[in-house]
Amino acid sequence: MVLEVENFYGVYLLYCTNPKYKGRAYIGYTVDPRRRVTQHNKGSKFGGARRTSGKGPWDMVLIVYGFPSDIAALRFEWAWQHPQKSRRLKHVTGKKSSEKAFNYRLRVLANMLQTTPWRRLPLTVQWLKQEYRTDFPVDLQPPSHIPIGYGQIKSKKVKKQSDNNEEDTDGDDLPSISFSQSSRCEVCVKKIKSDDMTVECIYPHCGVMSHIVCLAKHFLQNEPSELIPVEGICPRCKGSSRWGDIIRKKQGCYTDLMKEMTENENLASHWAEELHV
Ligand SMILES: [Zn+2]
Ligand SMILES: [Zn+2]
Repeated sequence: MVLEVENFYGVYLLYCTNPKYKGRAYIGYTVDPRRRVTQHNKGSKFGGARRTSGKGPWDMVLIVYGFPSDIAALRFEWAWQHPQKSRRLKHVTGKKSSEKAFNYRLRVLANMLQTTPWRRLPLTVQWLKQEYRTDFPVDLQPPSHIPIGYGQIKSKKVKKQSDNNEEDTDGDDLPSISFSQSSRCEVCVKKIKSDDMTVECIYPHCGVMSHIVCLAKHFLQNEPSELIPVEGICPRCKGSSRWGDIIRKKQGCYTDLMKEMTENENLASHWAEELHV
């Protein structure tokens, strides 16, 4: 089974299986892992990176995804490629001469997942090939909200509302949830104005609305020094959700519920601004 993921921003690890260069590793960023690994293996003439060109075949071994934006993923990629230059990774010791490049890259990754800001992102680590699967060291386990998955993965395009404007203007397809003037924020109980930044509970049976800042504060009750929550409990249905999944719902990942959203682009950066990050 192939897992399909919407709004996909991933950072992957390639492993070189060419006996001449065996053991080499390469880190890259992609929105489409399947297309990207094909490009690497076809070489630089077909969009593959120069460093991997002609040294294939490469296996895409692992991918980290769930970044709120391409910029967040690109920063992660850079730090993973250059741990010795990243001010956040000063504590990670350099590659030992006895250590394989691949194992070193995994050790850097394990450290990154425990380091701010990455340890607070709603990431998933996905092993794409069973034969490379390696356990993270006991003392470097990822935080509990970062699951480790296994199996192939495929990015899926999110249909924007503008895409179906032409064939459908009467709104028959729109979900029954509609914005009502009398909606109140579940946290502060104030009326929600049409230009307020709001989020909805991810559970379809609940879907309660809150101001984005109110819900963030609610989720951060037990860690007031942080700016962006990791996870929390819905004030209405008591369902547990990851902050990143709430933002992903707002961005249109849960398309069947979210067709009413018109502004589904760049929200990740908007909410970060609103929370003064
Ligand atoms: Zn509020
Ligand atoms: Zn709820």
